[in-house]
This record gives sequence, C-alpha cells and structure tokens, in this order.
Amino acid sequence: MSITFDSFGLNKALLTALATEGYVTPTPIQAQAIPSVMTGKDLLGIAQTGTGKTAAFALPILHRLAENRTPPLPRTTRALILSPTRELATQIADSFKAYGRHLGFRVAVVFGGVSYGPQERALQQGLDVLVATPGRLLDHMQQKTLDLSTTEIFVLDEADQMLDLGFVKPIRQVVARLPHRRQNLFFSATMPTEIGKLASDLLKDPVRVQVTPQSTTVERINQSVIWVEQGRKRALLTEMFSDPNYSRCLVFTKTKHGADKVAAYLEAGGVQAGAIHGNKSQPQRERTLAAFKAGKLRVLVATDIAARGIDVDNVSHVVNFELPFVPEAYVHRIGRTARAGKDGSAVSFVAGDEMKLLRDIEKVTRQKIPAVDRRNDASLGRLDASIMAAGVGKKASMPDDGRDQPQSRGGPRNPRREGVKAPHGGQPHRQRKGHRGPGTGNGDRSIAPTTPFDPLAADRARSRAPQADARAAAQPVKEGEIRRRPRRRRPSNGGKGFAANG
Ligand code: AMP
Repeated sequence: MSITFDSFGLNKALLTALATEGYVTPTPIQAQAIPSVMTGKDLLGIAQTGTGKTAAFALPILHRLAENRTPPLPRTTRALILSPTRELATQIADSFKAYGRHLGFRVAVVFGGVSYGPQERALQQGLDVLVATPGRLLDHMQQKTLDLSTTEIFVLDEADQMLDLGFVKPIRQVVARLPHRRQNLFFSATMPTEIGKLASDLLKDPVRVQVTPQSTTVERINQSVIWVEQGRKRALLTEMFSDPNYSRCLVFTKTKHGADKVAAYLEAGGVQAGAIHGNKSQPQRERTLAAFKAGKLRVLVATDIAARGIDVDNVSHVVNFELPFVPEAYVHRIGRTARAGKDGSAVSFVAGDEMKLLRDIEKVTRQKIPAVDRRNDASLGRLDASIMAAGVGKKASMPDDGRDQPQSRGGPRNPRREGVKAPHGGQPHRQRKGHRGPGTGNGDRSIAPTTPFDPLAADRARSRAPQADARAAAQPVKEGEIRRRPRRRRPSNGGKGFAANG
C-alpha cells in the first residue's frame, strides 16, 4: 500500500488544504523528507524542480510553526526561505499560502526590482514565513527593517543556482545573522564542490535525501538534438510549430536580446510567443507568464535565469534554441517539461560551434542524445526568407541571425577547419512514416531523416553548391534592407541577469 499524507501525522489544517490541492500521494522526496523535517532535523535534499520539493519543505515547516504557535515579533520572521530568483520566490510563497490557508499565518515575499514600501510594511508586522532573494534580503537587513536573530527555520533552495548567480557570499552574510540554534534545510539539483562545502558548513548531522541520481536527466523526457546552423534555427523553430503537438513550449536562449528576437520572429511567423528575461519589468514578466499559463501564448522564450522557478503545468516541449554554457543548466531547462508525472520532450538545436557544449552535457547526463541533421535543408532558408519578408525584417530590432550571441565557452566556430570529430558520427535514424522532420510531438524520439548522421556533411555540400540556399533565402527579401540595419546592443548589467538585484 502506498503512503498517504495522513500517515505523517501532519496538522489537520494542512491535510484539509492538501485535499483542496488534489494531492493524494506524496512524491518520493516528500515521503522521505517530511517525517524527518517534522522532527526538527536538518536536511540535505538533492532534487530538481518538478519533484515536489517545495511541499517537501513547506508542509513540515508549516506543521512545526503550528505546533509551537508564537506571534512573530515586529521585523522578524520565524522561517526564512532563500530563493535564487523572483519567480521561484513568488511560487514558493504561493505554495506556503495555499498549504497554510487554514492556519492564518503571515507569509510574505521580498525581492528586488520593486519598491521597498510594501515589503517594509509586511516585515514591520512580523512574519511566520518570509521567502526572499538574497540581494533584497541583505538590503532589508542593512536598513534594519528585518532582524533574523529569532529565526527558527532556514531553507536554502536551488543552491546550485545561487552559486551560478554569484550568491554564495551574500548567503554566507545572511547565515551569519541567523541564530546558532536553528533548523536548516538545503536543496540543490546538483552538488558542485563549492555547494557541497556550503552544505557541510550549514548543516548539522543532516538527513540526506536524493530523489534522482546527481545530474541525471528525468527519464520520462524524450530528448533529441537537431544539428542546424545558427542562422537557420529561427526558421526551424517556426516550422516545428506546424505540429499541433507543440502545444505549450518553453524555448531557451542564451541572451536576453536573443529571447526578444526569437519571440518577435515567431510572432511574425504567426506563432503566439512572449519573452521573459531580466530586462523586462516585473509587471511585464508577470503578464507574459500569466498569458503563457492561461494558454494565450503558445511559446514562452526565456533565458536560464528568468526561467528558474517557472512552474507551468503541461509544458509539452522544451526547446534549447542555444545550448547553455553550463551543462547542469540543461538538466534544469528540460526539467520544465514532464512535471508531476507527465511526459515531455526536449529538443536541442545545436550549431557547429556548440559541439563542445553538447559533449559536456552528455558527459554530465551520462547519455548520448539522438541527433538528426537539418543543416543542409533548403526549406528552412525559404521559410526564413518568407518570414523576414512578412514582417520581422522590417523591424530595426531584428538584425539577421544569431550573430550577436556570445561565443560559446568551448568549441571552435568551424568544426571542419578545426578538425573536430562528430560526437554522433554515423548514427542512423529511423523516420516515422508521414513525418517531415524534427520534434514530432510528445513521446517522439524517432525524429527525422534517413541518412546516417554526419555533422560535416552540410559543410561539404555547401562548399559544393553554396548558391542554392542563398538564392532561396535572398529572393523575397531585399538583402540590403537587412544588412543596412544597425546592430543594436542592449546595455549590459554585467551579465548578472535580473536576479542579481533580487
Ligand atoms: P516542485 O518540485 O515543488 O516545483 O513541484 C512540482 C509540481 O508538482 C507543482 O506543480 C506542485 O503543485 C505539484 N505537486 C507537488 N506535490 C504533489 C503531490 N504530492 N501530488 C500532486 N502534485 C504535486
């Protein structure tokens, strides 16, 4: 017989709320973590998003706060949860509010990019639960609008992302202000050395819970790679949306500007799309996310940082328009689909200069991802040309292809010249009857062409017949019109992403 939430001895008010949420069976991390956390033990949870980890800490925390009810003093919080991003912080706070809806606790969230006033008023009253991003939390501590000396429970969520965002030092500054006697819960999807060190400094005799092997991708996700040149990725992406199985998709780009460009291009191609990244204001981001959740947008184009904490049900596909620099980010990205027991697909567009990144991902995930080659596909050039002619090409903000993208950390730009070997050389791919190409919907691994894969074939073909694609791409567009357009560069915030001010 499977475990139920009743068997933990959780506060009745929580069980009522869980019934409203429709939760019947605890997820594996919940089953393992809740009993120990209820007894006050420290916890090290190695779990990625989508495993139900938020409830795994929120439920026992609410239970403990309810067992020992004391009105919080002004400018204090009984439980503190640190989150790397605003979106995740908001979602965690929403979960606390939903599970604790019958407990009458004061729950608040503080993050950067919005005014201080309402946050200060919430803190002034004293809180049972505070969810915060590190930067703004430190601001409040420095301005003495928050005092952590009586905090009983401390949670660090998505610690590996904190490291990526440069938040380890701010976290240590926060921890230094917490009382010595407290309960600590520490969650991370991966355990790089620095995060392991932080965990061992923070935790006392923790219970260790690991729900997926470190850095292993979720098994239910059908993963595939499509070799395609950077300049043809947008056309390929648009083409994929002729398949209705691509019902709700998250597309990842490396840069904020890239996210805007891809969203604009999709819109010009008739696919409803919005972009979410750190240069957008908080209200803009919330509006776009709400439209995506409501199904008004079919595609959400996001950068890694902005996508942290996006918890949207039924994401059918994650598309890596560009591969991330950090292999672990791949695991996080594809974890946005196949949530809560559902299936999902992840498709990665890989250009020649991204080979090294792909190899790093395969090393970390310990698997080869099946690949197909679309680099020699003239139809993409024609589609690109017609979309450019239809609208995008007239916008000053849409310079050609991905040339403004930063170079990848590794991997030469021209693999042929640099003598790079194909990671997938010679692997044959079966084609499903009636299928045209890549990404053919949920559960589809059998994407594409019939020829054995050779990542250098396109280069060879192009050097033999360079004119064919160029002609197709150039025809409906006045070339000069595109090339004359100035390349706009957005002001940089030091590459920190929006969460840096969070
Ligand atoms: P998380 O990993 O905390 O981001 O949770 C992933 C998703 O699973 C969220 O949409 C939760 O609402 C949902 N969820 C968490 N626990 C359960 C459960 N026991 N039963 C059903 N859904 C759950």
